[in-house]
Amino acid sequence: MTRTLLALLSVLLLSAPCARAQQTTLLRPASVLDVRTGRLLDGARVLVRDGRIAAVGRDVAAPAGAEIIDLPGHVLLPGLIDAHTHLLIQPDYASNNPILYKSIPYRTLEGVAAAKATLEAGFTTVRDVDSEGADWADVALRDAIEDGLVPGPRMQVATRALSITGGYMNQNGLAPQIDVPQYGALVDNADDIVKEIRTEVKYGTDLIKLYATGTTRHIDLKDMTPLPQFTTEEIGLVMREAARFKIPVAAHAYGGQGAYDAVVLGARSIEHGMLLEDRVLDEMVARGTWWVPTISVYFEPGPRDSWSARARAIADAHRATFGRALAKGVRIAFGTDAGAIPHGSQATEFQVMVEYGMRPLQAVQSATLEAAELMGYGESLGAVEAGRIADLIAVPRNPLEDITVLQDVRFVMKDGVVHRRP
Ligand SMILES: [Zn+2]
Repeated sequence: MTRTLLALLSVLLLSAPCARAQQTTLLRPASVLDVRTGRLLDGARVLVRDGRIAAVGRDVAAPAGAEIIDLPGHVLLPGLIDAHTHLLIQPDYASNNPILYKSIPYRTLEGVAAAKATLEAGFTTVRDVDSEGADWADVALRDAIEDGLVPGPRMQVATRALSITGGYMNQNGLAPQIDVPQYGALVDNADDIVKEIRTEVKYGTDLIKLYATGTTRHIDLKDMTPLPQFTTEEIGLVMREAARFKIPVAAHAYGGQGAYDAVVLGARSIEHGMLLEDRVLDEMVARGTWWVPTISVYFEPGPRDSWSARARAIADAHRATFGRALAKGVRIAFGTDAGAIPHGSQATEFQVMVEYGMRPLQAVQSATLEAAELMGYGESLGAVEAGRIADLIAVPRNPLEDITVLQDVRFVMKDGVVHRRP
C-alpha cells in the first residue's frame, strides 16, 4: 500500500467513528426530569440530531431514518458532571507510589480505563483538577477523548498543580540526596509562579490548580487550622497571571487565610473547604464563588467509631460547614476527588450530600446546572433542553425519590453517541 493511500485511510478511519454522531435518534424513556423544577415530564420524547438535543416533548415524532431507543421504566436526565476528579491517579496510590513505580505512559493508559469507567457511570463531563505528577497526560487524555480515539467524559484539565516546597504535593519520605519528580509543580517565588503558569498554558491547560492550603496532616487539631501555603501576594499573582490568559483558578483550600485570600483575590472555586469560616462563606456568596466540597473522600474505611481522631474531626467540620454553606446559599458544585476513590464509584457522594441536608433536587442540580455553569457550559450542558449538547443518562427510578439510584445508571449518551444501554 502506498504512503498516500495509508494517509488517506487513516484520515477516513479517524473521521468515521467520530466523537459526535452525525445521525438522528429518538429516545423514548418513561419520563424526563426537568432539573430546574424537579418535575417529571411523563411520556416525553427526546429527539437528538448531530449530537445536539433537537426537541423535547410528548408529541415529538421520529423522522424517517431515525434510530428509536426505548427506555421503558427509565427516567432520563442530563449527563452528570464531576467537578473534581483526578483520572491520572488510582486508589492504589498510597501503597504503590505512581511516581516511583509507574511510567507516565502506563499512568496514561490507567487514565484511559478511568475515563471509560467514569463515562459508563453516567459522568459525561469532568473537571480534572491536576494530573498528580503525570505532567501533561491529562491534556493527552482530554484530546484523545475529544478526537474520538477512546471513550470518556468531556474533560477540562489542570495539568500540574501549584504547590510549595515543604507543603502538599511533595514527594515526602525520601533521603534529601535523592532527587525525584514531585506530585505538583513546587513554586516558591514570583518568578517560579509566572513561569509555571505560562508553561501550563503553553502545553494546553484549561485551568490552574492552586494548593492554597496544605493537606489533612497539616491541620492543627488543637484549633482546626489548615496550613496556608502561599502568601497573599503570591495568591494575587497566581490570579492575575491566570486572568491574563482568561483561565479560571480552582483553589484547594480548607479554610483560614489561604481560603480567604483565594476567594477575595478571584478563585472561581474552592475545593474541599471543610474549615471555611463564615467570613469566607459570605465572600463566596457575594462573589458567586463555587464550593466543591468532596465530602466522602475524607472518610476512612469501616465504621466511624474505628476512624482516627483526625478523620472524625474533619468529617464533623465538613458536615457543620456544609450546613452553614447551604443556609447562606453558597453555590455548590458536585465533586468527589475520584482517583482517591475508584473511578466510576463517585455517585455515592450524592447520598452524603443529601444526608448532610441538601434536598435531592439540589444535589442533582449541583452535578448538572451548577457544575455546568462553573465550567463555563451554562448554555450548552446541564439540562435536557432543545439546543443543548446531547449528554443524557437514564436511571430506573426517580432520583428525587431515591438519590441512590444515581449509582445505577443504565443508559449513557454523550455528544449524541450511545455508550451504555440497559
Ligand atoms: Zn483533588
